[in-house]
Amino acid sequence: MSRYRSFLISFGILSLFFFSLPTLATGTNEKIKVFVSIVPQIYFVEKIGGKYVEPVPMVHPGDNPHNYEPKAQQMAELSRAKAYFAIGVPFENAWLPKLTAVNPKMAMIHTETNIVKLPMADHAPNDGKHTDEALDPHIWLSPRLVKIQAGHILQGLIAMLPQHTDEFKQNHKNFIAELENLDRDLTELFKQTPGKRIMVFHPTWGYFARDYGLIQIPIEVEGKEPKAAQVWKLIAEAKKQKIDVIFAQPEFSAKSAQFIADEIDAKLIFAGALDENWEKNLRTIAAQFKAALR
Ligand code: ZN
Repeated sequence: MSRYRSFLISFGILSLFFFSLPTLATGTNEKIKVFVSIVPQIYFVEKIGGKYVEPVPMVHPGDNPHNYEPKAQQMAELSRAKAYFAIGVPFENAWLPKLTAVNPKMAMIHTETNIVKLPMADHAPNDGKHTDEALDPHIWLSPRLVKIQAGHILQGLIAMLPQHTDEFKQNHKNFIAELENLDRDLTELFKQTPGKRIMVFHPTWGYFARDYGLIQIPIEVEGKEPKAAQVWKLIAEAKKQKIDVIFAQPEFSAKSAQFIADEIDAKLIFAGALDENWEKNLRTIAAQFKAALR
């Protein structure tokens, strides 16, 4: 009896040990807090970092990544972050040095490295007043460019948590396959519409348009609402191109876009570029673009 009993007891202790192992393991693998500049990057970092990271965005939906100013509470949160995944949006120019000063031990990963940027689109590139000082920062809206960003995210995560290298590499491989699949679908969607035009308020879609053979006509001029004369030029252009849908962004004023839409009897659609469900959002907007092409 005592032998059987001691067997039971030791089995009990053993199983207690084994069954509690996973709990112990998750206890030591608490999610690492990392910062990203914009919300779509949460999607990218989670795709590769999986259960090991908790990405926190600096610019929240509805805020403008061109001129955002981090809040005091975000600066406090930043002091506990292990890494910052930058993407080259304009507010970073002024703020990254300050963010690094708050937390000098935080790894700074520039996910836009090696991406060749296009000049920021002007609404009338042939009017002689085109300034290409500013480069187009909207690199997260091209699946092909997200592939490059994913490589930098992978390297950054491996440097931070080398014990999970194999898992990160596998996640990265799966993510690349998803991006290639999305790219194939979008290429197919716009195969028959090369050179067609979409009218947008803010020129968010430069890389998307380049990759899928579209031309974007932005309403905004160098980050500002167009002046009256420019608005009338746009109206003439829109009529000529038979534009009947205008795309605006939730984080920008839609005043001039609405005015032009009313003048030419077009529909105004809000196409957000900062959605957290990145792939679903891109597919939805692509379908809206396709339906609007004439
Ligand atoms: Zn923008």
